[in-house]
Amino acid sequence: MNNTNILSTIPDIHFPSSVNELGDLNAFESNRTLIAGGTLLQVHWETGNPIPSQLTSLELLEGLRHIKTTEKGLEIGALSTLATCEKDPLLKEHASILVEACKHIASPSVRNRGTIGGNICSGKGDSIPALLSLKADLKYYNGTTFETIPLQLWLDSPNLNLKYVLTHIILPIRSSNENRISFFRKIGRREAFTAALVTVAIHCCFDGKVFKELNLCIGGGDHSAHRLKLSESFIKNKLREQKDVQELYDLIYNEVETYSDAFATADYRKRVTSNIVLAFLADNLKKKG
Ligand SMILES: Cc1cc2nc3c(=O)[nH]c(=O)nc-3n(C[C@H](O)[C@H](O)[C@H](O)COP(=O)(O)OP(=O)(O)OC[C@H]3O[C@@H](n4cnc5c(N)ncnc54)[C@H](O)[C@@H]3O)c2cc1C
Repeated sequence: MNNTNILSTIPDIHFPSSVNELGDLNAFESNRTLIAGGTLLQVHWETGNPIPSQLTSLELLEGLRHIKTTEKGLEIGALSTLATCEKDPLLKEHASILVEACKHIASPSVRNRGTIGGNICSGKGDSIPALLSLKADLKYYNGTTFETIPLQLWLDSPNLNLKYVLTHIILPIRSSNENRISFFRKIGRREAFTAALVTVAIHCCFDGKVFKELNLCIGGGDHSAHRLKLSESFIKNKLREQKDVQELYDLIYNEVETYSDAFATADYRKRVTSNIVLAFLADNLKKKG
């Protein structure tokens, strides 16, 4: 590549310092790309995707790096790095499943730069099933106003993250007296620093021996994260005896929306997910007697 070509790939970058400036900078126009930590975008560019001519860096936006409790719940600024989330005492107390998810994303150096907002807006991040299991809400700025929507709705509306800037993630704060269990398992081709074949996140609450709340979620890799609602309902309302276990296995297997690629078949991903959920239930229902 000669010097002229190199210069022609250097994008024009804006660094707004407040969300209000984003609208003035036309950050929402289709020819501008938002960039936070840049860890994922960099991979895209290194693998041959064109570098956009116009970038809007979110890096200097004020007020998007805190993690604090508000009257609406636990509020996480979208620019909080994955490393910050991994160590934050409030998240450890109220959202340990998210802490666990962040620990399993990439390497420490990537987690020091990569943001939780970028992980969500990638649409495929490993934090998404954990956040879905916690019933997170997302707060967006659309150029004129802020909107808050359930993460599930955002996942069902793929065009939303092209138009909006994610500013905060809001998690409900549950009573500390409740009997809650969280479980996160990322299955990869090796123990660490690897893309997920499938990620399973489970958050549940017991009332005595009965499930009061049960959220079974899968994601990771190229999955669009989703809840396994039929399986949740079966576990809560029908799972009574050993003979029901095979029916549940088949239900989970059929409900997992997955894919085959060079590393694993869809059948493998479905079997792994079914086995992980059944093992989780066996462990925890046994403890409940
Ligand atoms: C070596 C390596 C390993 C990785 N391993 C994993 C892994 O195991 N699991 C995993 O989940 N990810 C992994 N990633 C992907 C990536 O690092 C994470 O998803 C990270 O959290 C992305 O955050 P970022 O701030 O760097 O996003 P960026 O790269 O800046 O942006 C990612 C996307 O989100 C958009 N975006 C960012 N912030 C916002 C916002 N606030 N509002 C609207 N749009 C926004 C950008 O426009 C872009 O489309 C890996 C990356 C690398 C380089």
